[in-house]
Amino acid sequence: MHVVVCIKQTPDSAAKLTVADNQVSWGETAPVVNPWDEYAVEEAVRLKEKHGGKATAISFGPESAKEALKTCLAMGCDEAILIADPTLLGSDALAVSHILAQAIRKLGDVDAALFGKQAIDGDTGLVPIAVARRLGWAPLTFTIKIAEIDFAAKTIRAERLLEQGKQIVTSALPAVIGTVKDINEPRYPSFMGIRKAAKAAIPVWSAADLALEAGQVGAAGSATQWPQVSGLPTRQGSVEMLTGSPAEVAAQLADRLLADKVI
Ligand SMILES: Cc1cc2nc3c(=O)[nH]c(=O)nc-3n(C[C@H](O)[C@H](O)[C@H](O)COP(=O)(O)OP(=O)(O)OC[C@H]3O[C@@H](n4cnc5c(N)ncnc54)[C@H](O)[C@@H]3O)c2cc1C
Repeated sequence: MHVVVCIKQTPDSAAKLTVADNQVSWGETAPVVNPWDEYAVEEAVRLKEKHGGKATAISFGPESAKEALKTCLAMGCDEAILIADPTLLGSDALAVSHILAQAIRKLGDVDAALFGKQAIDGDTGLVPIAVARRLGWAPLTFTIKIAEIDFAAKTIRAERLLEQGKQIVTSALPAVIGTVKDINEPRYPSFMGIRKAAKAAIPVWSAADLALEAGQVGAAGSATQWPQVSGLPTRQGSVEMLTGSPAEVAAQLADRLLADKVI
């Protein structure tokens, strides 16, 4: 049994986003494992604990993404691989899916690839489906529960969370499993796990290692560019302090709310 979990290193959701000169910045806040991906990591580790075998975390990103991969190791993943290469910069969801699909092909013996729901920075939610399409695997997105999984028979029965309710789906393995936050409660990395992860060597695969050609990845291999990026306009508003005794302030407030037709 070998499951892969694809994780992206993203800004912390508490980081303050600023946009200047078409560049997005999240300041000095340390980047983290994309919060949605923690659920996929937890599910991968639980599958490994229940069925034996191996869970491998992979990420395409900068060298700093090794820190996010170390978090995955500390949570219980057995191995971690970073894909990093300057020629891959500017990749959109289409190109990222090609990079990740090639990495999964290179691993060779993968039974399932787990993903988060979306990345909190790119936010397209396209990567898991596109990876499934490239590999020719079933895309079991929005999975809230892996009801049954049989690695010997190569079958899975999963529950998908839809706006209208739940859906039971069955499929052959290997499959792509997209997770939602209700699937589990991600564990905190253990002290021992953190110590082990700190010493782990994380291999880095290049575009050449994955036999990726220039026209398939990076800006040249992307269907989307982002020529203009802007922040939200600053909210306009003013504050007026009401003064007086509590009864007077309450009366003034009620008058204002009635005048503005709020009540
Ligand atoms: C300013 C700006 C604008 C952009 N606009 C677009 C755009 O309009 N369209 C576009 O396609 N791209 C755009 N990109 C690129 C985008 O940020 C991503 O690099 C790429 O598109 C991946 O999609 P996502 O981040 O939306 O991931 P999603 O599809 O939202 O991610 C879903 C899941 O896929 C997995 N995953 C995603 N990325 C990785 C990764 N690098 N490594 C491992 N697993 C991963 C994770 O499990 C994640 O939870 C933009 C980038 C910038 C800087």
